[in-house]
Amino acid sequence: MRDTVTFDDVLLVPQYSEIVSRKSISIESSLDAKLSFELPVVSSPMDTITDSHMAAAMYEGGGLGIIHRYNSIEEQCKHIESLPHGCIVGAAIGVTGDYLERSKELVMAGANVLCIDVAHGHHALTRHALKTLRNTVGYDIHIMAGNVATLKAFNDLADWGANSIRVGIGGGSICSTRIQTGHGVPTLQSVIDCSQSDRSVALIADGGLKTPGDIVKALACGADFVMLGSMLAGTRETPGNWVYNNGERYKSYRGMASVEAQIDWRGHTSSVEGVSHTVPHKGPVKDILKLLSNGIRSGLSYSGALNLKEMRAKAKLIKQTSAGQIESHTHIKHRY
Ligand code: IMP
Repeated sequence: MRDTVTFDDVLLVPQYSEIVSRKSISIESSLDAKLSFELPVVSSPMDTITDSHMAAAMYEGGGLGIIHRYNSIEEQCKHIESLPHGCIVGAAIGVTGDYLERSKELVMAGANVLCIDVAHGHHALTRHALKTLRNTVGYDIHIMAGNVATLKAFNDLADWGANSIRVGIGGGSICSTRIQTGHGVPTLQSVIDCSQSDRSVALIADGGLKTPGDIVKALACGADFVMLGSMLAGTRETPGNWVYNNGERYKSYRGMASVEAQIDWRGHTSSVEGVSHTVPHKGPVKDILKLLSNGIRSGLSYSGALNLKEMRAKAKLIKQTSAGQIESHTHIKHRY
């Protein structure tokens, strides 16, 4: 049995740097030859994270939003059509049911990216869907697919026609897949493994990123982008109503396989692999994106890297002990 690591198990060793200003650092990243973004962050296609408001804010902040698929084709298309002119946007689809018709309509409505959004992407249904989609919508549209946890799965999805791949199974903050099924791979380990691929597809680290530091670690280990749920939850642009408790504002953030989400979108539950939470109000998403952008730039500067490519080449990863993990979090003691 081999050892695996995830975000809190590792640190990046600071390196000699000649970078005088963080402004000289570029954190630009590309999904393909045509789609580049100033901020390597994608918002998750969940019904408490991304509809048109989040997608517009993500685009304005330099990243990408993927509009969730837990709605009718008409509703999902309306979200895309309501976006300002020129806004780059993605839209999620499944691999069964109305996915083909949905894809055609989404492309006609203006989606730039289709995202095959299933829990276990290394599956015959994904292979079939990718083949059918390529025959239907052609090769001009970018197709993101996932999720996967292994290099074999990553390479297969690339060979089946995906342009970018979501990497991470069981690591999401609201995910109970590992508890319910015993399956999964720590997300950073999956990123490290999949980054060994020789296919030219973009890698999106997805699930379990909880700090700007985790984002820097994912990018250093080979991710081209990170996909975020909980770090964006509770912002003004997320779908859903505020609930008030003791004068504080909260919003729901829930796994798409939670009881609550399944009841809402299909009226019954099957395998429950997620939970539902309320999260406090975090203000506008642009403030969060600014914070992330500053954190990532600062991270690159500690590694003496001017861009993500240099970061990957220079990154030196070490494992930390549990005492190291405690030291890495703020731990001021008021009494001795
Ligand atoms: P977070 O950023 O750690 O909150 O993780 C978000 C990611 O969790 C999403 O992008 C999905 O890949 C994944 N996810 C969403 N809903 C569920 C669920 O119900 N069960 C398991 N994983 C989920």
